[in-house]
Amino acid sequence: MIKAKGFAAQSSKTPLTPFSFERRDPKEHDVVIDIKYCGICHSDIHMARNEWGSSLYPMVPGHEIAGIVSAVGPKVTAYRLGDHVGVGCFVDSCRHCSNCERDLDQYCLEGNTLTYSSRERDGSGVTQGGYSNVIVVNENYVLGIPKSIPLEKAAPLLCAGITLYSPLMHWNAGPGKKVAIMGLGGLGHMGVKIAVALGAEVTVLSHSDKKREDAIAFGAHHFVCTRDRQVFKDHANEFDLIINTISADINMNDYFGLLTTDGTLVSVGAPEKPYAISPFSLLLQRRSYAGSAIGSIKETQEMLHFCADHDIAPEIEVIAPQTVNEAYERVLKSDVRYRFVIDMSEL
Ligand code: NAP
Ligand code: ZN
Repeated sequence: MIKAKGFAAQSSKTPLTPFSFERRDPKEHDVVIDIKYCGICHSDIHMARNEWGSSLYPMVPGHEIAGIVSAVGPKVTAYRLGDHVGVGCFVDSCRHCSNCERDLDQYCLEGNTLTYSSRERDGSGVTQGGYSNVIVVNENYVLGIPKSIPLEKAAPLLCAGITLYSPLMHWNAGPGKKVAIMGLGGLGHMGVKIAVALGAEVTVLSHSDKKREDAIAFGAHHFVCTRDRQVFKDHANEFDLIINTISADINMNDYFGLLTTDGTLVSVGAPEKPYAISPFSLLLQRRSYAGSAIGSIKETQEMLHFCADHDIAPEIEVIAPQTVNEAYERVLKSDVRYRFVIDMSEL
């Protein structure tokens, strides 16, 4: 076994504390990754606090992992020692269902194995995530990070980047499309940069005025502060596509009203409580409401190349692991510009 150290939640009510544990020795197709950086996704907070009811403890969160290959199993062909690699939200799937076969492994019909707080498919234990110094992952679930993207900036692409890239591609964001991004946090700011690169006309819908200048600097064409209720009238029927990245409880019906006829609102944000949805806010203009989860391994690799080609990277604040609990509090106050990334060399 490989000795690992990191930060873990021991229960839903306790802060993250230093934690020692073991990783499996590499199997034939496994890659051992020396973790350099791990992003803090709001999902880590939902999970550490068991807000979705599926958490297993002790839990080492983290699914925005960037590092360097330090060893490979004997049959690994995709990666070599020294390669820059990443790991996102899942580390395995059934590999034979119709979704796995058509590169939709994020929607594995048997359920994929999440990077942390998930039972290994062979029953060997529970997965532990990237707030740690080393991880062992099957090569099929490892991403190659283009050398032009610094590892600390690559980390947030593995969840925040792909979670916005996938729906923007699926719902054809591009020239002639009016796209709105709800919430300018870790996910939202990647959505702005990617949608702008795709050629869409992009509006940020934010719940305060504080991020106006940043939104425009990221390339957004318009910024709307939703605190003023009048904006829901002024922008009624405006957008072809709205991506909701908000982590908190909101009135979704207000936002449906901003969709044009046949427009689609896609939720990627996953607050603890369900939304109350009025059918009228959808049926009157034949609007659609959809959801989207991360992206496939293949699409994540494509997204990494897209970001390298378009010079797209997240805005990050690098922190020491010892300050992770304070960072969580700042994320909850929407006080992160725009992703915390933990430097594992400080473990
Ligand atoms: P984040 O950085 O905390 O961003 C969330 C944003 O939501 C905030 O920056 C804020 O934007 C807005 N917001 C927060 N509280 C609000 C409130 N009370 N009213 C209105 N807006 C509010 O979080 P994140 O890491 O981007 O994650 C966002 C959500 O996506 C989380 O629920 C997370 O679990 C989920 N997620 C889903 C997937 C998926 O595959 N579907 C993947 C990753 C994460 P403004 O300040 O601009 O208003
Ligand atoms: Zn995430």
